[in-house]
Amino acid sequence: KVAGMGLAKSNQKPEYPDDSPDAANPAETSLLMKIIRQGLVESKLDIEVQRKDPNSPLYSVKTFEALHLKPNLLKGVYDMGFNAPSKIQETALPTLLADPPQNMIAQSQSGTGKTAAFVLAMLSRVDPTKKYPQVLCLSPTYELAIQTGEVAAKMAKFCPEIKLKYAVRGEEVPRNTKITDHILIGTPGKMLDWGVKFGMFDLSKIKVFVLDEADVMIDRQGHQDQCIRIHKCLPPTCQMMFFSATYESAVMEFAEIIVPNPIIIRLLREEESLDNIKQYYVKCKSPEDKYRAICNIYGVITIGQAIIFCHTRKTASWLSEKMSKDGHSVAVLSGELTVEQRIAVLDRFRGGLEKVLITTNVLSRGIDVEQVTLVVNFDMPMDMNKKADCETYLHRIGRTGRFGKAGIAINLIDSPQAMDICHDIEAHFGKKIQLLDIEDAEEIE
Ligand code: ADP
Repeated sequence: KVAGMGLAKSNQKPEYPDDSPDAANPAETSLLMKIIRQGLVESKLDIEVQRKDPNSPLYSVKTFEALHLKPNLLKGVYDMGFNAPSKIQETALPTLLADPPQNMIAQSQSGTGKTAAFVLAMLSRVDPTKKYPQVLCLSPTYELAIQTGEVAAKMAKFCPEIKLKYAVRGEEVPRNTKITDHILIGTPGKMLDWGVKFGMFDLSKIKVFVLDEADVMIDRQGHQDQCIRIHKCLPPTCQMMFFSATYESAVMEFAEIIVPNPIIIRLLREEESLDNIKQYYVKCKSPEDKYRAICNIYGVITIGQAIIFCHTRKTASWLSEKMSKDGHSVAVLSGELTVEQRIAVLDRFRGGLEKVLITTNVLSRGIDVEQVTLVVNFDMPMDMNKKADCETYLHRIGRTGRFGKAGIAINLIDSPQAMDICHDIEAHFGKKIQLLDIEDAEEIE
């Protein structure tokens, strides 16, 4: 068992020129959300179930007792503070634990309890008296594998007989040894090396195969092929579990290859909307002029916090320097920061230590900061063809039901191109974006 590996090696960064658009990296975003998450994301929406075989039974449970887990496993679940199954767990767990085993594809946004569900299934399927790997779990990155392993270790707190091993970079097993641990959690490359190339365990004895974060997985070069190569060596009786936060066609095509005859469950996500958001635009002549606009706005809005979005890291750091020099306390979050640094920045901002967060597209989705009342688009969101990126606009400005408080969005427009984008966004959502005269800023209150 690898202890304390934590996030120590997550600092490898690709080199970006500072003035290219800063983009979100799905694996990093996913990791960040896991780490800063305080608990379950509740959803009022219903589960949608599809199955090819209508005769296969489908149950749902309201308690963990109803699952008839091994007592020490149930104890571990309660010890984690889980009182009742989450919405996705209510439906997923009976299927994942069913006998005979059933294959499952499950999709729900991050934070809804998928990891806890499959970890519980993995642990309950292990026969600790047999000293060889019986469960494989593939994650797209080192850090995500460690996160899953830590959940498994916690849940198995009272089951010391269950052994878990990480198949990730840095972990070495001497050649010609046989692995005796029951559960392997790791990345596809290492798993392929150990299982197929070096024969350190017997893939034909695997009972449970989990593919986690499938949407992030297919985003990574070569991972999909490696997963498929591992999958080919598994026995036909192996139970397949496939998890994804999104439901794009590429993910589902991948799922079809991996998971025969599945039960598919989806938890729809609450839609973001622009209702309750007052949208404005301000005409500016130059970046300096935009900066002045922000200072005027900042002077007026004293309640709550603000997030300012820039297109590039260069603009973000230029703006933060200027604001800091003028005595404003600002935080900056952009792509050159490690995940640990991003967590620190967000923690400070959430704690109210800074009133303003300047960021790039690394932070468009998923980070709900409740007390943010003002969002400023220093640069309008645009795609690679320099056209309006309406989806990103919605992620930046929109709120879901949970945080459906009123908010203000201000778009700073300094070119005909930016004006076009603003008009396109207005037309796309059918919601007026009003001209704001900042000399007369009382209007926005
Ligand atoms: P996902 O894999 O969908 O992102 P997780 O399984 O990581 O979701 O769960 C999200 C958060 O909710 C974690 O902090 C986890 O400990 C917690 N959690 C999961 N299941 C439950 C439950 N049944 N009751 C309370 N908290 C839970």
